[in-house]
Amino acid sequence: MGTPGEPGGFALTRAAVAFERLAIAFDEERGRLAAKVSELTDANRALAEARETLLRTEKLATVGRLAAGLAHEVGNPLGAVEGYVELARARLPPDPHPDLVDALARISTAAQRIDRIVRDLLDFARPSVPLLAPIDLAAAVDASIRLARVQVRFKHVEVEIDIGDHLPCVLADEHHLSQVLLNLLLNAGDAMGGAGRVRLMAHGTQDGRVVLAVEDSGPGIAAVDLPRIFDPFFTTKDPGEGTGLGLAISHRIMESFGGEIAAHNGERGGAVFELTFRTGVVVTSARPLARCP
Ligand code: ADP
Repeated sequence: MGTPGEPGGFALTRAAVAFERLAIAFDEERGRLAAKVSELTDANRALAEARETLLRTEKLATVGRLAAGLAHEVGNPLGAVEGYVELARARLPPDPHPDLVDALARISTAAQRIDRIVRDLLDFARPSVPLLAPIDLAAAVDASIRLARVQVRFKHVEVEIDIGDHLPCVLADEHHLSQVLLNLLLNAGDAMGGAGRVRLMAHGTQDGRVVLAVEDSGPGIAAVDLPRIFDPFFTTKDPGEGTGLGLAISHRIMESFGGEIAAHNGERGGAVFELTFRTGVVVTSARPLARCP
């Protein structure tokens, strides 16, 4: 309102200006509030992620200690079983009963299976220190496919590779990388029942990383399983078929490279595993690089 004696129109204009200023101040305050809310939401999300990582690290450490103890306890008697089977085989009479030969073969196969599980456990519990070096990803993929082909579950899988010449070498430990790739290929073979198609595609990112996607034409990963597939001992395979350690070990290996592994389902429904590698190089051109190392 105007002061007494002010013309009414002028008083009204002043009121309108004051009101407009108030509205602007209110708008600014609303903007600041919205920014604050978004900042808090981001902070909350970061906190939840940090908590998740911490829980995961703690869980892995506990499982690791347990696994190391168990592997040690199982390893010694297992060595004895294998030794006694060899001894029994050496002492078989010239014309042994077929049941006896069969029983010894079964004991030996079962012992080998336990031995593999124990070695997986030890790998998981006490991973060897990685020797990081620049690795030619295309060559590593080729070598792993050749290894996978030996296994029935991958023998008839069709493979498509799309890894350009211009990609820089990735920082990895050759032996550990082959373990990760082989695990992904064999899992894909399992998921597709031994027949289907696997595509391996790699590209460089602007921040100098290389991403390798391994996509299969299997049924994909159930939504409820997706958050758990990297957990140690999580498996949906039949008893005796899977230990649930392959992806947990792969996760740990990719972390030791300073990289990442993630999974989702592709547009066509199959599973897609994405490996992200460091390279130490920023991808700026499509010029072919000399093969590494
Ligand atoms: P394992 O192979 O012994 O089960 P992994 O840790 O390698 O252990 O895999 C854990 C689980 O992740 C599998 O049992 C399966 O449920 C799921 N999985 C892994 N790879 C695939 C894939 N390509 N398609 C569908 N599911 C998969």
